[in-house]
Amino acid sequence: MNRMNLFGMGEGELRDEIAASMGLPRFRARQILEWMYRRGAESFDGMTSLSKELRAALSERYEIFGARVIERLDSADGLTAKFLLGFSDGTAVETVLMRQPYGTSICVSSQAGCAMGCAFCASTLKGLSRDLTSGEMLAQAVAVNRELAAESRKVDHLVVMGSGEPLANYDNVIGFLRLAHEKYALGMSFRSMTVSTCGIVPGIDRLMEEGIPVTLSISLHAPTDELRSRLMPINRKHSLQGVVEAGRRYGERTGRRVTYEYTLIDGVNDSAEHARELSRLLAGQLASVNLIPVNPVPERGLMRPSPERVRRFEDILRRHGRAVTVRREMGADIGAACGQLRNRYSY
Ligand code: SAH
Repeated sequence: MNRMNLFGMGEGELRDEIAASMGLPRFRARQILEWMYRRGAESFDGMTSLSKELRAALSERYEIFGARVIERLDSADGLTAKFLLGFSDGTAVETVLMRQPYGTSICVSSQAGCAMGCAFCASTLKGLSRDLTSGEMLAQAVAVNRELAAESRKVDHLVVMGSGEPLANYDNVIGFLRLAHEKYALGMSFRSMTVSTCGIVPGIDRLMEEGIPVTLSISLHAPTDELRSRLMPINRKHSLQGVVEAGRRYGERTGRRVTYEYTLIDGVNDSAEHARELSRLLAGQLASVNLIPVNPVPERGLMRPSPERVRRFEDILRRHGRAVTVRREMGADIGAACGQLRNRYSY
């Protein structure tokens, strides 16, 4: 008999399920949820707050399947670990753990593959395979927590910045963020969560009305429509001005500073003029710019600018009064550029 998978359920759903099928009281749902999500239980065997008989009865009907670690790669400096995680249907995604000075952070994938077609991104090379469910996103955090338990740590922050476009899988992503916030799951504050988008304007407006104060990150990568449309096909649908205005609305409405991601590609979008255009575009907006020297994708022949060019770009933004950071490179030795590990696994 096929057992039903409980992983991914929220409190209401699990309560209804076990009441209807086994007549269990409401508090049992809470106990099972805490075992599954907070303590990473993968079966009912170790759920010692439940009687042996109850554990056996639950095992007959149900299973707990989050994500299994197919591969783990650790960077030489020990700060970054990259996981290839598999779900029950064999689909695999990447999740990256970064140990930052302010705590641990994970980069969660929202889709297997991606349909957006950005020129510099390895995740989109083979198109979209499928959306991930809320449970499959939560499973990435729970799997990493299980690994971190050995060092008495847990995931402190999460960014939905792995493979996929989160606002193209809107309901599942919101379901995941709400689940991650629950005390019985990760108990994480919304302020510790970031959603990164390629610029789907209606999705940004919807997120703004959701009433959850997550940080919004917008991948910009070019200061003109002509160049942005070449790098990011989505720009033909939602143009630069529209995206930046949506970012401004989000910042004003939520009081949260929006981050613009700008991947620097040698000779493509990294000139002094590009920097000045970018400054003008964001003038007067509560926003910061995060510069990311591109992770070269050999398939596309896109290279990283010299440190001098990166510094020049940064200086110009700063002189124009923009808040700017340059992303610290982490995990380059383990192919932490989006999609690289999965591509090797799934060709
Ligand atoms: N679809 C979402 C989230 C996933 S991409 C988005 O577009 O924001 C996460 C970030 O990695 C984006 O800013 C994306 O543009 C960037 N990125 C993708 N490939 C990259 C590469 N080769 N080098 C540097 N950054 C890259």
